[in-house]
Formats: sequence, C-alpha cells, structure tokens
Amino acid sequence: GVVLGIESSCDETAAALVTSSREVLSQRIASQDEAHAPYGGVVPEIAARAHAERLAPMIAEVLEDAGLTLDDCDAIAATAGPGLIGGVMVGLVSAKALAMAGDVPLIAINHLEGHALSPRLADPELAFPYALLLVSGGHCQILLVEEVGRYHRLATTIDDALGEAFDKTAKILRLGFPGGPAVERLAREGDAAAVPLPRPLFGSAEPHFSFAGLKSAVLRAHESGQYDAVDIAASFQQAALDCVLDRLSRALDAMEPVPALVVAGGVAANASIRVALEGLATSRGMRFVAPPPKLCTDNAAMIAWAGCERLALPDFAADPLDFVARPRWPLDPEAEPARGAGV
Ligand code: ATP
Ligand code: MG
Ligand code: FE
Repeated sequence: GVVLGIESSCDETAAALVTSSREVLSQRIASQDEAHAPYGGVVPEIAARAHAERLAPMIAEVLEDAGLTLDDCDAIAATAGPGLIGGVMVGLVSAKALAMAGDVPLIAINHLEGHALSPRLADPELAFPYALLLVSGGHCQILLVEEVGRYHRLATTIDDALGEAFDKTAKILRLGFPGGPAVERLAREGDAAAVPLPRPLFGSAEPHFSFAGLKSAVLRAHESGQYDAVDIAASFQQAALDCVLDRLSRALDAMEPVPALVVAGGVAANASIRVALEGLATSRGMRFVAPPPKLCTDNAAMIAWAGCERLALPDFAADPLDFVARPRWPLDPEAEPARGAGV
C-alpha cells in the first residue's frame, strides 16, 4: 500500500509518500526557521499561517514527484497531536478533505508515535519489543515499545526536554534557533571538562530526567564571563550526555531485557549522543538502532510510515472524519506523570 503522510505539529510543514515495503517515494519539508528566528522560538500564530499557505501545494508536489495521484493512495495519515493546535488542525483538516475526496481511510497519528516507529522505517530488522529513548524539542522519555499502539513509559522529564535544553543553551550563547545543531557544532571545538556543570538527578533511583538546573548553570557560567562559548557548549553537551546515559542505564536495569536500544526524535540527530548510546548498547549486548538524522527531526515520512504500520494491523480501523486534534496526547495514557511535570 501507499500512504500519504502530513506533518504540521510544530514549525516543519512536511508531506511524504511511503509504501508498506519501506520505500519513501517522495518527501518535502519546509522549515519555518526564518519566520520564527526574530522571536527566538516558535510563534504559534505564525506557524499555523505558514502551514496553511504551504501545505496544499506541497501535497500536490509530492504526488507529482512520485508520479502518482490521490487515487494511488491507500490511506491519508496526518499528525493529529500533540503539538501547536493551530498547525495540527491545518494538517488534520487537509487530511480529512483528501480522505473524503479519495474515499480512503483517514489515519490520525500521534506525532510521538511517528518518532517512536521511525526507526523501523529505517531498519527492517528492528522487531518489537525495543527500548526507546525519545528525545525531542518537547519530550524526553524512555519507553518500552511493545508493538504498534502499545507503549509503556518508564521515565520522563520533570522539567525541560533535552531538545529544549539544547535550544535554551543556544539562546544563552546567542547561536540562533533552532539551537541543537549549532550547539553540537560549537561543542566540537570546545573542552568538555572546562566548565563545571551539574548533572541533575544523576544516580537517583527513578530513571526520570531533569535539565532545568543544567540550563541555569549554563546561564551562570556564561554570565560569569570566565568561559569561552565553545567550552560552555562542549561542557553542556557532556553533562547532558552523562545524565542521559545514567538515566537510561537505570531504566534498562529495571526492565525485562530486550534485544535493541533505539533512539528517536530531533536530538537523536546529535552525533555525540549516537556514539555514546551505541557504546551503552554494546556494553549491554544490545543492538543499537538510530534512524538517519533526517528521519530524527520532524518529517512526514515517519508519519506516513506510522500510517503504514497501522494499516497493516489485522484489526485496522480508519479514524472517524470528525477526529478532534489533540494539543496533548500522551503515548502511554497510563503512565504516572513525573513529579513536578505535565504529561
Ligand atoms: P516534539 O517531537 O516533542 O513534539 P519537536 O517536534 O519540536 O518536539 P523535533 O523536531 O523532534 O521536536 O526535534 C527538534 C529538537 O531537536 C530541537 O530542540 C532541536 O534543537 C533538537 N535537535 C535537532 N538537531 C540536534 C542536534 N544535532 N543536536 C542536539 N539537538 C538537536
Ligand atoms: Mg522544528
Ligand atoms: Fe517532533
């Protein structure tokens, strides 16, 4: 089957055509970085308007790129949450219209499920269950991915997400937005041991994360005027990495052994984190899987693929055309919120 995927939950407008045999027939992404850059972060109103302007022509383009028409699509999958509600509604409404026009199933995808299943698009060998570190701009979780639709959350952040910590560090160092890639680049030139920074929750019994204190320490280090930006970036990245490895080890100790350690979400594009996680996996006799960097940050191929995964389920059912967009939508509704945190 062929699934058209649509992503519009944050500041990436994206559309893609993916087959159930893992072929990405075509895909396009329009980033809104320039529109939001003057504000140092994503402005929801600007994002929704940009999605509305860009999405319809982009869908026509991906169909044309693949030499297909709407009639060739077996389902329309769109991010239905969580995210900025205006943008999510633009994508979901478009998907509903296309599903209706093409008389094919609508599949409402949880954006986090898109990230969580993206490693399986990249790696046909990756079977369920697997341990997943989901690290993005809004989320920082450790999950046991049991099967499509069954996600057990083992840990989350009690304050900031990891991508958010990278973005805030970039803002402090005036590197622009989004900050993750810029911090990574700068960190390569710096000394990771130059700036003493805290490792919040390191060694604590529950495997949860915390990054707010690290960000504050970065701000103090910067304001002290004692350190070079390259050293702050390198020391920040090292501290964040130490926390991730410690928290992940803790979570893996507490769960039933699984064959694969998997990372997904925008921060999974970070080369240092990939290397460190690969080391952790190897030391535990686990296989390590990370999607290619372009599949880590927001894209529509992962949404189309999540649609393919759903479509292949023996009990597949289309979502109703009155499916309501969800600004918040936990992957594991049963998970207890971490203390001091939202979903
Ligand atoms: P969510 O998926 O939680 O809704 P989002 O969709 O905004 O949030 P993603 O696009 O998945 O987030 O990831 C974006 C985040 O990843 C940003 O915080 C960005 O700084 C971070 N990021 C991207 N590339 C890198 C990198 N090379 N190193 C570190 N962080 C990175
Ligand atoms: Mg983005
Ligand atoms: Fe995302």
